[in-house]
Amino acid sequence: MNPRIGIDLGGTKIEAIALDPGGREIFRRRVPTPRGDYAGTIAAVQSLVKAIGSGSVGVGIPGAMSQASGLVKNANSTWLIGKPLKQDLEKAIGREVRLENDANCFALSEAVDGAGQGASVVFGVILGTGVGGGIVVDGRVLTGANAIAGEWGHNPLPLPQPEDLPLPPCYCGRTGCIETYLSGPGLARDHEQRTGTRLSPEEIASLGDESLERYVKRLARALASVINVLDPDVIVLGGGMSNVGALYEEVPRRWGPHVFSDRVVTRLARPVHGDSSGVRGAAWLWEVSEAK
Ligand SMILES: [Zn+2]
Repeated sequence: MNPRIGIDLGGTKIEAIALDPGGREIFRRRVPTPRGDYAGTIAAVQSLVKAIGSGSVGVGIPGAMSQASGLVKNANSTWLIGKPLKQDLEKAIGREVRLENDANCFALSEAVDGAGQGASVVFGVILGTGVGGGIVVDGRVLTGANAIAGEWGHNPLPLPQPEDLPLPPCYCGRTGCIETYLSGPGLARDHEQRTGTRLSPEEIASLGDESLERYVKRLARALASVINVLDPDVIVLGGGMSNVGALYEEVPRRWGPHVFSDRVVTRLARPVHGDSSGVRGAAWLWEVSEAK
């Protein structure tokens, strides 16, 4: 049986893996992303697939594909925006390609054989340089009518407190977005604003002081509003901030008052596959029965 090929098309690197039908990794290679070069990006993916050979191809991208136009949108790898990436990849590779947002791939990987294995509804959260999310229901990615399902990062932070003001401006044009508080840079900005000291998110987390406490309370309120809408069995954290061990205990301790339920059974879980979740999830875009 042919392997499943997963490609993670990131802003700095393109990674390829091949999984055998049991989900074991049988190939892995990464190359630098030809930044700003669309044709070069297509060629890099093409040569990675060629190195593996036959198999189904799934690709995770830092953005979404508009269902209406088939063009890439919302990508921070700006040279992909407005391009018919799926068609161009299929032409270059000579087979059907499935494209998904990279946070959706992360959620899928953790739902299939990671922290959300066996759960019906999994919300995968990226807390990195940005804040994203993806939803998997019964093993399938929920893409959504606008291809933005799970994108909670540009909702406003719920129930802002005096310590959350003034609402920070976001690159998306809105103010007070969850991402401006809960991304790694958001934590660094908040800490600097309070203390006058510029530290990395990791340094602030290891201090464990009031800055981390504010972060925990904001994350608890933001995830509570997701729980009220989606009611997931498991929320899996990914991205750099997922390494902060205190979150897994402190956040569920604080989200209860904001959830419309007397008891909250939703689990907040560490990722099992770490940095590999994006590329593994891309491979899982094809189910075993469909793999070509
Ligand atoms: Zn925003």
